[in-house]
Amino acid sequence: MIPSEARFWAAARSPAEIPAARAPEIAFAGRSNVGKSSLLNMLCGRRNLARTGRRPGATRGLIFYSLGDELGFVDLPGYGYARRSVTERRSWKALVEAYLDDRDALAGVMVLVDLRRGIEEEEAELARFLTSRELPWVWVLTKCDKVPRAKRQARVKELLAAAGSGQAIVSSVSDSQGAKELWAWIEAASGVRRRR
Ligand code: GDP
Repeated sequence: MIPSEARFWAAARSPAEIPAARAPEIAFAGRSNVGKSSLLNMLCGRRNLARTGRRPGATRGLIFYSLGDELGFVDLPGYGYARRSVTERRSWKALVEAYLDDRDALAGVMVLVDLRRGIEEEEAELARFLTSRELPWVWVLTKCDKVPRAKRQARVKELLAAAGSGQAIVSSVSDSQGAKELWAWIEAASGVRRRR
């Protein structure tokens, strides 16, 4: 069973620094500011496990969290910075793909997208990559509280129609919306049950 306590385990700024896996892993991807740190904190019931409101574009690598010996969460570095140089973008891609391409322990990937903003080329490219590798993945549509309740369903439909594929979980950290569905997906993908 997955314990409720999550801990920082390792950071990797280059493929060589990626640690050997100890348990099934769920990875979280999304552009900077999508709400990835906030979502990780919500799932782990911790306020400051992942640092929110990080300086946009700050260089960082993959961050590994362990939930006991049972499960790992992997925070993939945020992308989508216009100001980043071509070299930086290349090394980002090389690092993320080195992880995604060669990780037997990888049980599933959550691809975060701001519900208001929608799916852009980077997310679409990632979704195609994951599908081509036959990795289980799901759209997580974040910050749904920013879209009026009456308009949410239509917005989700519109976004999924534009995406062309994938299922979606709608989330918001302001009222913990989606936490149950996110955990259900994680349990199904990893085959590990969570302690309640
Ligand atoms: P990251 O860069 O993807 O890790 O994003 P953060 O978790 O640091 O969040 C970026 C900003 O969005 C912060 O100011 C958060 O407080 C805010 N934020 C994150 N999730 C939500 C949400 O569900 N609703 C609202 N309204 N704001 C959010």
